[in-house]
Amino acid sequence: MNQKSFCVHAHFYQPSREDPLTGEIPIEMGADPFDNWNEKIFAGCYGPNAEIGNFQKISFNLGPTLTRWMRVKKPQTLEKIVAADHENILRFGVGNAMAQPYHHTILPLATRREKLIQTAWGIADFERTFGRKPDGMWLPETAVDLETLDVLSECGIKFTILAPWQAEGIIPDPFQPYQVVTSGNRKITVFFYDSGLSSDISFNPGSTINADGFASKFVHPRFRNTDKPEMLMVASDGELYGHHQAFREKFLARLLDGALLNEGVEPSYPALWLSRNPIHQTINIRENTSWSCHHGVERWKGDCGCTPNASWKKPLRDAMHTIAGMIDQAFESYAGQFMLDPWEAVENYADVLLDKVSADEWLADKSNVALSIDQKMHLKSLFEAQVERHRMFTSCGWFFDDFDRIEPKNNVAYAAHAIWLAERAAEIDLYAEAINAFRPVVGGKSGLRGDDVFGTAFYRFRNRC
Ligand SMILES: [Zn+2]
Repeated sequence: MNQKSFCVHAHFYQPSREDPLTGEIPIEMGADPFDNWNEKIFAGCYGPNAEIGNFQKISFNLGPTLTRWMRVKKPQTLEKIVAADHENILRFGVGNAMAQPYHHTILPLATRREKLIQTAWGIADFERTFGRKPDGMWLPETAVDLETLDVLSECGIKFTILAPWQAEGIIPDPFQPYQVVTSGNRKITVFFYDSGLSSDISFNPGSTINADGFASKFVHPRFRNTDKPEMLMVASDGELYGHHQAFREKFLARLLDGALLNEGVEPSYPALWLSRNPIHQTINIRENTSWSCHHGVERWKGDCGCTPNASWKKPLRDAMHTIAGMIDQAFESYAGQFMLDPWEAVENYADVLLDKVSADEWLADKSNVALSIDQKMHLKSLFEAQVERHRMFTSCGWFFDDFDRIEPKNNVAYAAHAIWLAERAAEIDLYAEAINAFRPVVGGKSGLRGDDVFGTAFYRFRNRC
């Protein structure tokens, strides 16, 4: 068996772009000549990578909000991606697709319940798409703490991938994965990617013009002359291959179909490696860290220096916590009258979210009393509000420098939708308190106000009726 293994992990993901009022993606000007960014990135990246067979040879995750779009708009491509995972199962006994928490939430900033719900929905989406249980889960922004790993392990996830600086101290052998003991004393395996090589692939286009050259000059020399099996991994956004950098899907195809093998290096992926190599060594991780902010997870809650003009980020996160608390209280007090454990029901709500059953059937099954038409309608709204209250934490809302961008404004619109749904169902006034929560949110560059965005979105829903 070959002792040198190389893995490319690609994180394929797009946030929700749908307008909550119409359920459709509005025309996005920057995506010209396509109607929206999903279409544009599909044409440059998802489609060509599927056509050329790359999904079979890499390790990858498809974000559920992207899968949802692909299921409707590009079903044949999604079928090809699923078939690639199945080919590997037939050939090696294990697949190469990984799951992802549903709404790309920064999990260390979430409560345990939010972590559980995001993980459960992500797993349900994976099962629906790939027809099997996931072995691995990619964490949004690789943001991690021990409670997040505990929830993953509790949900049956065996491994994840982190950046090397997320390990505590120097990794003794960077060519091996490690076990981490979680906050609940469970165990999970962590693969650490190679930061130098990953950064070459992502940010040095000159290094990836020629796959054979990359294999001989960059990959092969990294390995040591040892009898011990070695796993070298790179991780990047999947959109790199063909969208951020033109023609890199062809680079990837050649790299994994000949260039590496010529250097005596075998393409691999985490589940395959684990099926062949037992792991004994353990390591500690640095909690509240991520792959795209070197200040921990500050980028998604404050002013860390990663982006200028970030004074709006903390007030926005605080506002979202207030909204979440209001929605949860309205939900719990109403749904608690009809269900023994309303929160367990939210964990299982993916059945409705993924259109496996109708909301009516599902509610009848979960309730311990027969529901009136009104009660059903109210419960439906409150469960929908739960989805929106999770969607409003999509990490992209805090990633960039100004508040006046589609990503944070979408998150505020999802919050407004959640409040409107809960108001209607619980028949209480939540608007005044909710809009107050957004008052301190002011874009540092644009001056755009959070309460204006919230109010405008809220009245679009109210006026629809
Ligand atoms: Zn930062």
